[in-house]
Amino acid sequence: MKNQWQIGEVTITRIMELGDVPFPAEVLFMNYDPDDLAAQEWMRPHHLDDDNNPVLSVHTFVVKTPDKTILVDTCTGNDKPRMGELFNQLQTNYLEAIAQAGAARENVDLVLCTHLHLDHVGWNTHLVDGEWVPTFPNATYLFGRKEWAHWEANKDIEVEEGATGEASPIVNASAVIHDSVIPVVEAGLHQLVETDHQVCPEVRLEATPGHTPGHVSVHIESDGEHAIISGDMLHSPYQMARPDVGVSFDSDGPEAARTRRWFFDKYADQPILFLGTHFATPTGGRLVSHEGSWRFEPQS
Ligand SMILES: [Zn+2]
Repeated sequence: MKNQWQIGEVTITRIMELGDVPFPAEVLFMNYDPDDLAAQEWMRPHHLDDDNNPVLSVHTFVVKTPDKTILVDTCTGNDKPRMGELFNQLQTNYLEAIAQAGAARENVDLVLCTHLHLDHVGWNTHLVDGEWVPTFPNATYLFGRKEWAHWEANKDIEVEEGATGEASPIVNASAVIHDSVIPVVEAGLHQLVETDHQVCPEVRLEATPGHTPGHVSVHIESDGEHAIISGDMLHSPYQMARPDVGVSFDSDGPEAARTRRWFFDKYADQPILFLGTHFATPTGGRLVSHEGSWRFEPQS
């Protein structure tokens, strides 16, 4: 299956930390109809399993432009104490894998976090002699100004409430901000950016709020070719067909739904490579309109 794409002069490589794993639909989705989900035959077998659960992945995109080596989201990280066994105390060969993709620790120029949830900031730091220190010593870490303001204000709240009003098992915000974001800020390696920030000539941010207040997607353009890395504006191709279906850890469900409709309407049916930040393999494809909503056409 394809893990690398060329967009003009830019090479994008997917490095998987966890996946492809089924995630319980009733834990993930909000406002959904299980029978409707089960009827989405076009999602099978890769994005919907035999038990009608969405299949997800956690991965980083290594984006190499002619001048910059960029990591888009840094997964969960090793050794991190997390609620929920899926993410707790991982031990993976992530650093070797990104090095093989041309992003050895000391060669990374920019780390770009679409938002500051645990599965997007983990490898920002790693454990050295019992302390969390920045993993990429020569990188500038780009954090959204609005996103950081939200989490800085909430950094000592133990568990953030998800959209259900109940504590979400995977949003363990306080620990995440303290072990994966604050050490970067204290080292002075961060830069706060706006949600439309131009990262380099080929890469810019686009505001896609709702999942978190300052959430961004990443638009890559080179030699007239385009790719979009979704971030968590959606988690599963099912939300292309049903954009009003949210996930339980969206911070503002209605805003997230509005963002999806606006974004899909803007970019559907164009020659744009759509890369889903949590889409299981195959992760890249086209966003196409279908019977009043949209679908994902994977490219294998
Ligand atoms: Zn995520």
